[in-house]
Amino acid sequence: MRVVCAKCNEKMENVVLDKYEYVKRFPLYNVPAYQCKKCSNLFFMEKMVKDMEKRTKELKVNAFGFERAIAVSGKGLVLRMPSDLVSHLKLKEGENVKIIPVDHKGFLVERISQQS
Ligand SMILES: [Zn+2]
Repeated sequence: MRVVCAKCNEKMENVVLDKYEYVKRFPLYNVPAYQCKKCSNLFFMEKMVKDMEKRTKELKVNAFGFERAIAVSGKGLVLRMPSDLVSHLKLKEGENVKIIPVDHKGFLVERISQQS
């Protein structure tokens, strides 16, 4: 099938990407795609997108995680850190973290600085 780049009208090549994040922070490996030789623009057929969605979903299901209920403190909501996670990451009181939304359902909490 002939696929043409939407940006520069060049013929796109069938490639396999070593690594591609369909959803940020959930990298997929060996992802089939169409790529423009001229501008590197990527294009995915519907079937390719469906496959990436399925693979990302599997990654999320198998990801290491904890289930917690959200509590209320004053006007805000509080999420308690599981002690296993605290010791695994060697987190201490007073450390700063950054909360980054991942998609419409979740967020990632990342340490800003590590105290020595
Ligand atoms: Zn192009």
